[in-house]
Amino acid sequence: MTPTLQDNLDAASTAITRVDAFIGGQFMPAGSGARLPSISPRDGKVIAEIAACDDVDIDRAVTAARASFSDGRWARQHPRHRRAVLQRLARLVEQHSHELALLESLDMGKPVSDAVSVDMRVVMQSFDFFAEAIDKRYDEVGPSDPTVVSMITREPVGVVGAIVPWNFPLMLAAWKLAPALAMGNSVVLKPAELSSLTALRFAELAAEAGLPDGVLNVVPGLGETAGSALARHNDVDLLCFTGSGPVGRQLLRDSADSNLKQVALELGGKSPQLVMADAPDTDTVAAGVAGGIFFNQGQICSAGSRLIVHRSRYEELLDAVVARAQKMVAADPLDPSTELGAMVEERHLQRVLNHIDAAREAGADIVTGGDRAEVISGGSYMQPTVITGATPESVVAQTEIFGPVLVVLPFDSTEEAVAIANGTPYGLASSVWTTNLTTAHSLSRTIRAGTVFINCYDAADVSVPFGGYGQSGFGRDKSLHALDKYSQLKTTWIQL
Ligand code: NAD
Repeated sequence: MTPTLQDNLDAASTAITRVDAFIGGQFMPAGSGARLPSISPRDGKVIAEIAACDDVDIDRAVTAARASFSDGRWARQHPRHRRAVLQRLARLVEQHSHELALLESLDMGKPVSDAVSVDMRVVMQSFDFFAEAIDKRYDEVGPSDPTVVSMITREPVGVVGAIVPWNFPLMLAAWKLAPALAMGNSVVLKPAELSSLTALRFAELAAEAGLPDGVLNVVPGLGETAGSALARHNDVDLLCFTGSGPVGRQLLRDSADSNLKQVALELGGKSPQLVMADAPDTDTVAAGVAGGIFFNQGQICSAGSRLIVHRSRYEELLDAVVARAQKMVAADPLDPSTELGAMVEERHLQRVLNHIDAAREAGADIVTGGDRAEVISGGSYMQPTVITGATPESVVAQTEIFGPVLVVLPFDSTEEAVAIANGTPYGLASSVWTTNLTTAHSLSRTIRAGTVFINCYDAADVSVPFGGYGQSGFGRDKSLHALDKYSQLKTTWIQL
């Protein structure tokens, strides 16, 4: 039975059990004793004081990870053993999915029902998928001279540093942890300072599932202290990052300035949704477009934040999208019926509102929304917003806003639509709405983006890769291809 709002409120009061770093199989405070307040955007109240770790704690965690990797307690186990442990972990996430969802919702404001049906479901699927895959992969033998055996084997990379953002805290961590651990790596995870609670509780579940000490370490703290120390550490072999472009660039510099660790970056986007003249019925398109931008309060790297629509469909589609935006009313994230929760923090809400003010001053029209929503006193909520009258080159149509803000741009020819779609430095996701198969295929080939959705948005499965072109980053999460990132190839040449 789905818990009620009162059930969630009751459970929330005792949900937070882990606030310290998890290093070498032990929970411990930061060496400095420092703590960071965790503020719930639901009502602006402090819900926990988490360990504020720094370079000393990161060094301790990397040392624990290295020791666990070097003695082979995980890396040299039979793949079937790793499969069994990770499957047990998936089952524990399943059993605790409501508790974890509640933590996520309290910590960063997403609707608790989305946290169960999307975030926790994907965490579970990620561990099941990579666990099931890992004992079914074979290495290779090269086509060499009969006097030679040339073996091509895949080995774990070693110590993996993972740094993740706050918008899908445990889910994005799982996209990295599941393939990294399945391959036999040891990991140090630095969750976002705004949303560390699920990662800390997850570490405890991983230990319960049988993951040996030191193989997964979770070190909370600020980006510029804990995150930077991980990026600059000389004993980290691979750094996997999801977050903003400026931090991604800094991580590349940190790698160059330290041990040339490998770096994989999943960054932001300004994803286009193209609606052609022959798009399906307006209601269907409007539902997809609105879901594509407003889900998770628009705080999604792949948010379809630019609606590029053929002039013949412009007015009717704009009306339909605005009607949907006006129906999406921000509400208490702990209420199971809520579709639109809180923004992650007050500072971010203000940032989004500033973007809207700047667009207004630059001459754009705010057709609906544009302001904060009053839901719970002290909370940070926002109205879904639709903007017209901006040019494709304008700041509001070029910058990742990371909020529920849609910019609508008309076009007259397919060439113009493609030029607008490809006219940002990003290339994460995109959609094309058309009933013509040829148009769908040819636009899918022309649009520079890691994902092209045809007549849908945000369709996803762990079996297909996710990642960006251009300044949306490089490297792919999810699918069997993700295992490439967490492994290196070794050639063994045997002269017979
Ligand atoms: P952010 O870059 O500010 O922070 C991400 C993480 O990096 C956090 O854990 C933070 O503590 C850490 N960090 C910050 N400064 C650091 C530094 N100097 N060194 C090391 N670590 C540091 O991003 P955010 O605000 O948390 O998240 C929003 C951004 O993430 C958006 O740009 C969004 O598009 C992007 N994102 C991308 C994807 C994707 O898969 N491509 C998914 C989700 C979010």
